[in-house]
Amino acid sequence: MDIKTPLAPRCRACQLQLCKSRSEPPHAALTESKTDGVMRGAERHFTCKTCNATMINSSDLAKPGWRHHR
Ligand SMILES: [Zn+2]
Repeated sequence: MDIKTPLAPRCRACQLQLCKSRSEPPHAALTESKTDGVMRGAERHFTCKTCNATMINSSDLAKPGWRHHR
């Protein structure tokens, strides 16, 4: 069994997105899925068309600007 299972099934664009600041726009393959207005500080959820990852952009300064949801 020498098949390499990628630990993080994110595409490169999503990997890069995680390094960007919160004010950076989502990359081209991300489409907004929902906006969670319930939580303090708006969180915007995006789904990647390439790798199907859910990326969250948060305006809450206590959280990372961009993070990957599960
Ligand atoms: Zn992706």
